[in-house]
Amino acid sequence: MAKERRISLAEVTDKNKHKLLRGDSDELDDRASPTLRDLTECLFFSPGDGRIWLNNVRMVLMHNLTMGTLRRELVDLLGVERARGVMTRTGYISGVEGARLVRDQWPNAEPITLFSAGTRLHSLEGAVQVETVHISFDAAKGVYDGEFIWHNSSEADAHISEFGLGTHPVCWMQLGYAMGYVTTLFVKPVIFREVECCSMGHPNCRVVGKTAEQWGDISEDLRYLSAESFVAGGFAPAPAAGVSLPELDPALLDPGKKLMVGVSAAFTAACHRLRRVAPTRATVLFLGESGVGKELFAQMLHEISPRKSKPFVSVNCAAIPETLVESELFGVERGAYTGAVSSRAGRFERANGGTLFLDEVSSLSLVAQGKLLRALQEGDVERVGGTQTIRIDVRVVAACNVDLRREVEAGRFREDLYFRLNVFPVHLPPLRERREDIPLLLNYFLHRYNFRHDRNVASFTPRAFSTLLNYNYPGNIRELQNLVERGVISAEDGSPIDLHHLFVSGEASSIALFAVAEGGRLSERTGGARSKSETSDLFRMLAELTGSSDTERISIDSVDVALMDLAIEQSGGKLSRAARLLGLTRPQLAYRLQKHKQRGE
Ligand SMILES: [Zn+2]
Repeated sequence: MAKERRISLAEVTDKNKHKLLRGDSDELDDRASPTLRDLTECLFFSPGDGRIWLNNVRMVLMHNLTMGTLRRELVDLLGVERARGVMTRTGYISGVEGARLVRDQWPNAEPITLFSAGTRLHSLEGAVQVETVHISFDAAKGVYDGEFIWHNSSEADAHISEFGLGTHPVCWMQLGYAMGYVTTLFVKPVIFREVECCSMGHPNCRVVGKTAEQWGDISEDLRYLSAESFVAGGFAPAPAAGVSLPELDPALLDPGKKLMVGVSAAFTAACHRLRRVAPTRATVLFLGESGVGKELFAQMLHEISPRKSKPFVSVNCAAIPETLVESELFGVERGAYTGAVSSRAGRFERANGGTLFLDEVSSLSLVAQGKLLRALQEGDVERVGGTQTIRIDVRVVAACNVDLRREVEAGRFREDLYFRLNVFPVHLPPLRERREDIPLLLNYFLHRYNFRHDRNVASFTPRAFSTLLNYNYPGNIRELQNLVERGVISAEDGSPIDLHHLFVSGEASSIALFAVAEGGRLSERTGGARSKSETSDLFRMLAELTGSSDTERISIDSVDVALMDLAIEQSGGKLSRAARLLGLTRPQLAYRLQKHKQRGE
């Protein structure tokens, strides 16, 4: 099947695939890219249009005093514990971005160079000057050890100016950054702790990073990293300012328990809405693509609501045949129709006192919609063939993955029911809009499926990880979950999951691919899976562009050269402009051109 293979992003960018993910700061070559200078070249200012760029990511220059004010407001509003959580998670997301930048820009760098680049990037961003005491890691053994001294911590400055000296370390955001950065590169969560801090009167801050297994008990650390404390199952009402959150349920670390996992802004926003509406009786409508976890959110809503001790009943409306929908939902009296040999309660009755989750509610027939509306309005149901109404107290939670408004316009969904259900919509983001959560989710499902299938699969190879990070997930979390489960089953105990454990033939074609976009930029494709003919058309176009005579075989180098030529042509020979088109700095482009020229001679 060799001919069928598509180019995957990982295969293109990761020439390191045979290199093991391990390193030691003793072997660090200070001149290896990315150096501080290389990183500095990624940063450019564009005051004319009000933008600052770090490579292709927009940045913003802020007064450190503002950070102090923000910190003060957060602490006053949320209390120290929660403010710390917010800042740790915010820092974590910056760290993930930083790791993505260096990995994408320097895919061929030695792992130790990439890991240590985070210290320079953090310095470049003005957060802190980092002195490395030592770093060593070995992914195969699942071991990471890092110790750093932080000089000139901006966060300690900001904190001290607002609160003065204290007894606890305060570089929360910077610690989050370190965790986000290292976790993204290392594939496994690495937890950093600040063991000394300027804010406690130490001359410098000092931080130590290790994996969860090495630390042992990390429930304390997770408290600041997990966006929502209620993921542990127990709902704690928002504490008053200054009161600390209750200890996390150890269930958070139990791989057998289903949890919602995430730190991204999109995920946190959805959790926030969930928490707002949970204590009320309001009907909730979950909107989002297939596979985003609507049922899990519905269960969580039930868990943190006052109805938690009563039943949670789930119905997939699309899975019930049209003729059975009514009896399924509302129950049936004996003899109502041929075959109804005994009376049976419907899902509404079974959910009495609790929550009824109606998934894919848009697939209900108009008749069933009418009955549902009545149940919602009157608070009673009537069994099929029955004569009396039955009083019910059920909170209805619905979900759908199509635009319900459009269904109403098309006459397929009752408008009155739409308004009844749409009291409190919660939009659940697709996974590609919350990529920061992918490392956490991968690790969470790895633990869960190791536990479920009694396996001991180590982690992911760097190329599998980078593919999973960049994959588009048309099937969202459900797809990620399936991939990890398949990987856990296919890989050997004690070894990491590699690409071939994850993707069976054909499926890999939906891995992010390179495509030539407008302006000659080589860009990652987004959207659903590409058809086979589309792929071969694109491949033929690339062959034409590179002047390759063989449409089955195109070397990466020839694409590189052709793209640079195209970009230079497009920018009228202006090198700096061509570099911008390609997402490079001018020196980087010049270097590449030079390299190819030498190779061509
Ligand atoms: Zn500190």
